[in-house]
Amino acid sequence: MKFEDLGLLPELLQAVAAAGYTEPTPIQAQAIPVVLQGKDILGGAQTGTGKTAGFTLPMLQRLARHASASSSPARHPVRALILTPTRELAMQVYENVKTYSQFLPLRAICLYGGVDIRPQIEELRQGREIIVATPGRLLDHVQQKTVAFNQVEMLVLDEADRMLDMGFIPDIKRILALLPKERQSLLFSATFSEEIRKLADTMLKSPQLIEAAVRNSVSETITHRVYPVAQEDKRHLLVHLLRHQDMRQVLVFVGTKFGASRLAHYLQRQGIEADAIHGDKSQQQRTEALEGFKAGRIRVLVGTDVAARGLDIDDLPHVINYELPHVAEDYIHRIGRTGRAGKSGVAISLVCPEEKLRLSDIEKIVKRKIEQIEVPGFERGNDHGLAADAEKPRRGRSREDDGSRESREERSRKADRERARSLHGDRPRLPQPVAHLPKLDFDPNKPYESKLAAKASVEPPKGPAKPKRQIAALLGGRVKQDA
Ligand code: AMP
Repeated sequence: MKFEDLGLLPELLQAVAAAGYTEPTPIQAQAIPVVLQGKDILGGAQTGTGKTAGFTLPMLQRLARHASASSSPARHPVRALILTPTRELAMQVYENVKTYSQFLPLRAICLYGGVDIRPQIEELRQGREIIVATPGRLLDHVQQKTVAFNQVEMLVLDEADRMLDMGFIPDIKRILALLPKERQSLLFSATFSEEIRKLADTMLKSPQLIEAAVRNSVSETITHRVYPVAQEDKRHLLVHLLRHQDMRQVLVFVGTKFGASRLAHYLQRQGIEADAIHGDKSQQQRTEALEGFKAGRIRVLVGTDVAARGLDIDDLPHVINYELPHVAEDYIHRIGRTGRAGKSGVAISLVCPEEKLRLSDIEKIVKRKIEQIEVPGFERGNDHGLAADAEKPRRGRSREDDGSRESREERSRKADRERARSLHGDRPRLPQPVAHLPKLDFDPNKPYESKLAAKASVEPPKGPAKPKRQIAALLGGRVKQDA
């Protein structure tokens, strides 16, 4: 299938061509016609499947009738909201929106916390049709009456499962209560828990179910490996692997922000270019770390699940779990950045005896026994390390120092979640009524006049949309191997 077959406007096809895409990904082929028809979607899709273009392209097409080159703010009321759990994902989605809307006079803005709110307010005053936002900062704007939702037609909830993990569902519900009831809503999630299903039930109307990956599935092109190692030897084993294996761009996951910074420093001291990405870093530090990593200046990026969530890094060959996640499904999120688009990838986990249970949960979810590789000197429970170099497992270090105690990990993780929520600044308890925008001085139903070739039909072609299925079918395990 080609993008041309999906019934997209010439301006959008031009933007897709400029991005260098030739064929729609499976989620795009499924989602685009359904969104163009104005239907709600419950999408089972991980990052890396092309889902962002899957919802952004048809959203732009549906908003194109409002596109206006006028400089009057009144001509640019908010028409669409895209909510994401993290600043990084918000920025990535915003970049996508900018890319795909470059030939249409539609305006977008990205709102996230941790930065001065005033420039955002100033930009909002000029009028923006599309808002990409994290929930906390959006509610800050609601409280300050700097945004009005009375003309919102479309809502996208991206990575809903991560929103849930981060405690954003109450914020989402507050935002939902402020939106017009008549709207199109799309919900994307990599995994589906009972709570996500409940949220979908309240938010979506007769949604079309689409999937780009089997629920809780992993790409077949990823090789999984477990290296058994004592907790206190993990950092030495990590250095050993980085020195002896051909790993040029490695994303390392740790459980806590403190652990991420400490490990990045340790790697730097060993002469390995490393940086940490987590919620206590400023936005600028996070952006710099990510850019350095993408550009190859930083070989190892150490991050927490929250910060590394949704990072769009093309073709990442190696992911290392320095600590296994507490929730097995997070393993799938973590390794979702490798093995994309049929490319091969390696997911390495450094597993100490205390993590055995977590490993067996992960093996259940990936439906395979993961190969275990013992490195001489680092065997599990081994107490004779490699001698005389920096990789040497030092004896007698306190386990507490490496954060190995379960209770400590639990506590840190809880604290991490709390702090992740507070990243977006103080949250209003109850949203205040929103201000109303000035009366419109144009007809919002007037079709957008394309400046390019003859306007393509907004009617999607018949064909690729899948028949409707109930949510339960998706959740209950109808399996489709198309990712
Ligand atoms: P996403 O899942 O939306 O984060 O997209 C993952 C990556 O796939 C991004 O780097 C996109 O730029 C890229 N991408 C999206 N659509 C296509 C396509 N049709 N062909 C090739 N790459 C794509």
